[in-house]
Amino acid sequence: MVVTRFAPSPTGELHVGGARTALYSYLYARHSNGKFILRIEDTDLERSKQEYVDNILRSIDWLGLEYDEIHYQSKRLDIYNDYAKKLMDSGRAYKRVDADKGECIVFKIDRDYIYWDDAVHERIGRDISKDPDLVIVKSDGYPTYNFACVVDDTLMGITHVVRGNDHISNTPKQISLIRALGGACPIYGHIPLILNPDMSKMSKREETSLETATLKYRDEGYLPEALINFLALLGWSPGGDLEIMDKETLIKLFTLERVNKKSAVFDLAKLKWLNGSYIRKKSLDDLTLECRAMLLTRFNKLSVNDAILKELVRQNQERMKTLRDFVDQTKFFFTDDVEYNSEAVKAYILPDQSRQILLEIIDSFNSMNDFSKDSISAILKDITSKKGLKFVQVAQPLRVAATGNTISPPIDETISILGKEKTLQRIKKALSIANK
Ligand code: GLU
Repeated sequence: MVVTRFAPSPTGELHVGGARTALYSYLYARHSNGKFILRIEDTDLERSKQEYVDNILRSIDWLGLEYDEIHYQSKRLDIYNDYAKKLMDSGRAYKRVDADKGECIVFKIDRDYIYWDDAVHERIGRDISKDPDLVIVKSDGYPTYNFACVVDDTLMGITHVVRGNDHISNTPKQISLIRALGGACPIYGHIPLILNPDMSKMSKREETSLETATLKYRDEGYLPEALINFLALLGWSPGGDLEIMDKETLIKLFTLERVNKKSAVFDLAKLKWLNGSYIRKKSLDDLTLECRAMLLTRFNKLSVNDAILKELVRQNQERMKTLRDFVDQTKFFFTDDVEYNSEAVKAYILPDQSRQILLEIIDSFNSMNDFSKDSISAILKDITSKKGLKFVQVAQPLRVAATGNTISPPIDETISILGKEKTLQRIKKALSIANK
């Protein structure tokens, strides 16, 4: 049976590169009807933190990568010590006192050329005959990464190790250890790095870099199914033009053979496009729930009822790319403190003609009893033709006055939902801003 694992060290938030590694391990296990194990490699006492463990678990949960088992290396110290002892008994390891590091246990590395047939690359080989011996247990009694990793990969029956290219240099040492322990070598698949659009490494946090923490994408209003689809394509493709694939399809199609050898460039525009397409596919009820949750991260209380919220979602579903777009496009509904975009005010409120139109709109709206979309639309058309203008010349000043911005769903629908009183208040407020 295929058994894969994702083995993060909780020394930072789960990076999208890590999420992709987890995803590939998960997809390969599910594709093969195998098992997917999550292993928290928390043996670096100084750098491991509980908050990062929590962050990793939350990220994996959010992405929906269900694991079959979870293990914490910090709870398995006896096991590593047993194996270190076995290696000492068989003469493959010895104790050494280092001036700065204290007494540790050191493994006599194979004096050999070591190679393996990588599932992503061709054969990879390294001469490790001149490498120094390898510390496997530190003076604090904790195993080093290479040792704990190998013991666990062996004991947990891992058949396929999917991990980043940055671990290629560890693999020969690990193979040497596995041989000494008498274990079977898993198949290794080293996946290429993710690059920023400027070709810098994505793991390096720089000003120009994209967001790297997985949950940031949740907070920015991306759907997990879109991020999974995007990450899957970041270094793999099923062949052909197929791009939009839900989890079931990815599971069906994913193989390690089709993982690219070359680094992949993170293309945010593509992620947005995919996200928009998943948003459009959602049922209105589901999307309303998502939008509500997103709004509540910004407003403590929503001043509109469910029917109105749903109507707002319906109006925006086609064009929002992220849930945050929805908040940005509709936030004027939820607060009377409208933020006026200064460019928009300059273009559509300040000019004399706009002010005249707004005054006229106030007059007409004042005498309306039925503030329905159709009545509003009729009134706006009336003003338009009376003044010999184009519809946008009337609609834009009203839009900016009511929403603060130049983009919104159709203005008649928008202000009909907003209500007559609030609309009038806002037009007056916009005019008073302009008067200052
Ligand atoms: N704990 C290692 C890391 O986070 C795991 C590497 C591996 O998959 O073997 O980089």
